[in-house]
Order: sequence, then structure tokens, then C-alpha cells
Amino acid sequence: MDKKKQLITVALAGNPNSGKTTLFNSLTGSRQQVGNYPGITVEKKEGRLKTEEADIHFVDLPGTYSLTAYSQEELVARNFILEESPNVVVDVINANSLERNLFLAIQILELGSPLILALNMMDEVRAQGLTINTSLLSKRLKVPVVETVARYGLGKKMLIQTIIEQSQNPKSWTPLQISYGPDLDPVLEKMSQLIVESKFKLDKYPPRWLALKILENDEEIKSILLKEAPDLYKKLNAIYLEVSAHCEKTLNTYPEAIIADYRYGFISSVLKDVVQKDTHRQRILLSDKIDKVLTHKFLGPIIMLLVLYTVYKLTFWLGEYPLAWVEGFFTFLGETADKLLPPGLLKSLVISGIIDGVGGVVGFVPLIAIMFLFLSFLEDSGYMARVAYMLDRVFRIFGLHGCSIMPFIISGGIAGGCAVPGVMAARTLRSPKEKLATILTAPFMTCGAKLPVFILLTGVFFPQQKALALFLISLTGWVVALVVAKFLRSTLIKGPATPFVMELPPYRLPTWQGLFIHSYEKTWMYLKKAGTVILAISILIWAMMTFPQLPQEKQAVYLNQIETIENTLKTNPVEKEKLLSEKEKLAFELAQAKLTYSLAGRIGKSLEKITSLAGFDWKTNIALVGGFAAKEVIISTLGTAYSLGEVEVEEATPLAQKLAKDPTWDKAKAISLIIFVLLYAPCMVTIVTIARETSWKWALFALVFNTLVAFALASLSYNLLTL
Ligand code: GDP
Ligand code: MG
Repeated sequence: MDKKKQLITVALAGNPNSGKTTLFNSLTGSRQQVGNYPGITVEKKEGRLKTEEADIHFVDLPGTYSLTAYSQEELVARNFILEESPNVVVDVINANSLERNLFLAIQILELGSPLILALNMMDEVRAQGLTINTSLLSKRLKVPVVETVARYGLGKKMLIQTIIEQSQNPKSWTPLQISYGPDLDPVLEKMSQLIVESKFKLDKYPPRWLALKILENDEEIKSILLKEAPDLYKKLNAIYLEVSAHCEKTLNTYPEAIIADYRYGFISSVLKDVVQKDTHRQRILLSDKIDKVLTHKFLGPIIMLLVLYTVYKLTFWLGEYPLAWVEGFFTFLGETADKLLPPGLLKSLVISGIIDGVGGVVGFVPLIAIMFLFLSFLEDSGYMARVAYMLDRVFRIFGLHGCSIMPFIISGGIAGGCAVPGVMAARTLRSPKEKLATILTAPFMTCGAKLPVFILLTGVFFPQQKALALFLISLTGWVVALVVAKFLRSTLIKGPATPFVMELPPYRLPTWQGLFIHSYEKTWMYLKKAGTVILAISILIWAMMTFPQLPQEKQAVYLNQIETIENTLKTNPVEKEKLLSEKEKLAFELAQAKLTYSLAGRIGKSLEKITSLAGFDWKTNIALVGGFAAKEVIISTLGTAYSLGEVEVEEATPLAQKLAKDPTWDKAKAISLIIFVLLYAPCMVTIVTIARETSWKWALFALVFNTLVAFALASLSYNLLTL
């Protein structure tokens, strides 16, 4: 049996430090034998590997860069290949520097030896994000190419298999012939012919290779020739001297240098497109590096807070100008309508119901668009996923799951989201209890519809710290959501936690196109809502605030007084200032009386008893009731409520200025309102969505529970602040 086995001799050649010895050790294990090459100090290492098919004898050749006769190592390697004619030569190549390593491979091929390329250190190549097209390399050089990682013994099997295949089907290895250019090619041809004619050791030395060695001025070959075929040597040497002189004269160089140049030229043509940057892999590597900092235990959260805070700062800084333009535009629309329309219901509807209502919402479009632009950047770049990853550590503490983060963020965890898709995003949570807790708390976040209220109120009452205030509001949303989640998870929805698995996508530089499309989509959705739902609700609320109308005789009381003053002004303009302000006061009182008499006014008034605990008057109540339908309505209703009193005064000012001037408003009330708006019942659409995702029981729970939480906290803060 054993005798039938093929005996294969394999020479391991390669540059120093390419991993030859490592590969050799891994292939042969302990079956090694170390000696010296006869007569010299160069170490000779041999080892064996027995497989089912073959008995392989490995020889670890000394490491060399070339096969000329400059050093003992090169000579030993060359002579082993030439004289022992191993069945296979495995050239172990450091794949990190293919070009330099192939220099040796080319020379082995010129010798006509059966070659296998072992591309070693592939682990390092991959770590650099590079791929090597081995099949292309193999095709171009017409030799098998095997990828290995000698250090971990990877690719060993494949290498052994290839060695066996190569030696079982010994194809006729014709020596590689590469062109050495117009000066040397004809000379090589002529010399080869002379060698063939003189039949000098044709079985050992390929004639063209021998000719090349003469041109390379190889001392060993020259001395062999001189000794064994002096006639041939004389002829060849004459040719060499001639071409050498010619090269010296015309190119100012010598044949050896030309040969090296052409070899490198050949190698670079072989390697064209072989080494490719694996951009995906490189991105992952770069991402890993970035993540070392951005998701660092301590630095990560600090950077995260800085990034989010910067987004707010930048948004307000950039948004200031377009905000003023849009506000100006709606003021202009209001003034124009005021001039063109006759006094009456239509004028009131157009100015108070439509222009002020919708204007209040649209006015925030520039700010929201800019905010969306930044958020899209964070999202598209992959940073948002890191935010989620970092926050996960916190989430577990509160009985939530890592996957709760996306619903939170989408709902407005970073101001500007929407609870509807947020609640739906909770579908990724597998545990029903964690899902429920997420759904019930996600609406506490700063959704895009609450945002205008906050922007308005912070702008009026905290003009110096707008960004900080908004940041704190968002933070409050988070804190309340987490605390409530913890509360629910330890009472109504008790249960164990499930583990977190989440893929972090590699970072990418967002494209402008992507950013604009994403922020445009979100802004457009907001605008569309303003144009349709909000407009409808705005008109409905205007109607509720206008009807039933104050009876004529009650209006007459005010109108008569106003008329008297006007008449006095016409005839006797002595105390003009005093009369004018009296007239203004009467107009205001009339408007108030009208509003109080209306349906909305009655609802607002009847709620005032309770809501005064949180500092809300009946006008605010009207807005908040409207907010149950959609949070955007709060701002538009406030706009309408505060402009109703003014239509007669022929002066339309933006809501912000009205609130700033209004004596019934102060910081305590603003803060209380902010807290309430942030936390109270999810809007109608969200309620329906919650019902769909869970049940109506939980949807109603959210409605009542959130409103109670909101009212409790708003009252608490109001009373503390007004103490
Ligand atoms: P030789 O000079 O060609 O015999 O190379 P060695 O076998 O002595 O290896 C030189 C160095 O490269 C040693 O530190 C090896 O551990 C290392 N090495 C060998 N193969 C690999 C490999 O596939 N990957 C990596 N990363 N290192 C390797
Ligand atoms: Mg070695």
C-alpha cells in the first residue's frame, strides 16, 4: 500500500519573512530535520507530510529576493530547483507586497519549474480592506494560486490538494518567456540558438534562461560554461560584451538593469486590477476606528450630548432669518385681507380662522426643515444607530429593550419626530411586555407637532436660552418616558428583560441628494398636514370660537360706547390719547365677551376651574382641547384665540408678540404649558395607531393616564414656580 503512494518533493521558496518557515512548520509539524547544505553554513530544513494519497517531502529553501548568484542563499535556492528538480515549487508570497514578491516568482517561472503561488498573510491583506483577484492572477501567470494564512494554518488543505494535483498531472512546463525589449530580445534569440546548436545541458538549463544569465553577468553560470563549454562561452561572451557596450553607448545603462526593468514592467502588467480596494470592508474598518471614539464608554455619551445640542444651536441660528421672512409674509397676508375684506364673518374667518391658524403652523416650516436636515444627516451617516447603541445601556435599567430606542427616537426622542410611525416601529420588539411599555411611553417624546409650541414659548419667554430650553424639554420627555416605563414595568406590565442584538451599519458620508430628499419628505408631510387636517380643524375651532354669536343687544352696549368715543374724537379731539386707549379697551372687552359667549369659550371657561391649578386660562384650554385632535392645532388655536380680539383694532401682530405683551402670560405659565403639551394625551391618529398595535383598552389608558401625568406635573411645576 505504502509503496503505491506517490512521493512528492516540494520546495518552499520565497522572500525572507514571507512566512515560509511558519508554513513549513504548520505543514510538517514535528516531522522535521535540520541540517546544512553541503559545504556551506546555509541551513537546510526538511520535513514530511503523509496524506492518504501521497507522501510529501518539503524543503524549506533559504529566503531570497531573486535567483541570481549574488549570495549563497540565492545560489542554494536556485541550485536546489535546478538540480533536485522538485515536483512542485511553492513560492510563499507575502501578499502585502505582491510586486516585490513576484520578482522571484517570475524567475522561477523562467526556469520552467512547476510552480504554485501561496499568497500568504492574507489576514493582513484583508485587514487593510484589500482583496486580491487570485483567479485573475492565476490566469495571467498560468499557475495555481492559493490563499493562505500560515500563522493560523489557513489554506493548508487547499495547498496540499493543489500540490498533489499538480504533481499528478505534470503538464509540460514551458519556461516563461517575457520580452526584454528591442535591444535584448534579438540578442537573447541569437544566444539561445547558439546554445541549442551546441546542445549544452539542455535538460538542465532552459537555453533562454542560460542566455539571460550571461546577460545578467552571472558569475556561476559563466564559470560553469567556461569550464564545460569554452567555445560556446567565448561566443556568448562576445555577444554579451557587444550588447553591453551598445547599451552603455545608447542608453547609458547595462543589460542587467534593463532586464530588471522589464521584469517589473511585466509584473505590473500582470498585477493590473488584481489588487482591489474592498470599499465595503474599508468602510467597516474605518467605522470601527471611528466607533472607538464615538461609542467610547465615557467619551461616547459626552460627544452624543454635544452633537445633539449643537444640532439645536445650529438650527436656531440658521433658522432665525427664514423664520422672520415667513412670519413677515403671513403678517402681510393678514394686513392685505384686512384692507380688502369688509368687516364681518368672512373677514374674521379668513384672518382669524385661516391665515392666523395656518400661518402659525407654516411659520415654523423653515426651522423644522433645517432641523430635519440635520437629523437626516445624523440618520444617513449612521450616527443615529450609535446613539441607539449607547442609550441601550440606560434602557435596560428602565425595563425597556435596546430596540425600544428606535420607536423613541422616531417619536421625537430627538425633537421633530412623530409618534405614529414611532409606535409602529415598536413592532421590532419581540417581547409583548417591552413592546407595550415602549408604545405607551414613546408619545412623551418631542414630536414635530409639539415643536412649534415649544419654539414659540421658549422664543417669547426664554429668548436668550432658546436652544438650551428646547434641549431640556427633549430631555424631560426622555426622563418622563423612562420613569413611566419603569413604573409600568414594575406594576401593570411586570416581566423579565430580553437580550439586545443590533447591527451597527458602517458610517457613510451622506449625499446632499439623500439629505434633501429625506428632509424634504418630512417637511412636506408636516406642511401637507397644515394644509389639510390642520386647516379643517382650524376652521372648525374658529367656528366654535365664533358661534353662538353674542346677542345684538349685548354687543350694542360696547358698540354704542365705542361710537360715542368716535364721535367725540371727530368733534372734540382734546383728550385724544385717553379716548383712544379707552376705545381700544372697549374693543378688547367686546372681543372677550364674544369669545366667552361662544361654544369654545364656554368649554374653556368650564374647564378653567380645574386648569387654573396649572395656570391655564380658558383661551389656553380651547387650544389644548383642540390639541387632542392634533398637536399642531394648539399653536393655530392660540393664534386664532389671540387674534380674535384684534380684528377690529386693525392691527395684526404675530402670536409671539401678542403673548409677550399679554399680562396674563409669564414664565411659570409658559413652563407649565410646555410640560403639559409635552406629556398629555397622544393625538387622535396616535391613539388609533396604539389601539391597532395593542388594544383599545391600552389606547384609552394612554389617553387618560398621559393626561393625568401631564396635568399633575404641570400643576406641580406651576405651583412651585409661583410660590
Ligand atoms: P520566513 O522568513 O519566510 O521563514 O518567515 P517566517 O515563517 O519566519 O515568518 C515571519 C513572520 O511572519 C513571523 O513573525 C510569522 O509569525 C509571521 N507570519 C507568518 N505567516 C503569517 C500570516 O499568514 N499572517 C500573519 N499575520 N503573519 C504571519
Ligand atoms: Mg525562515
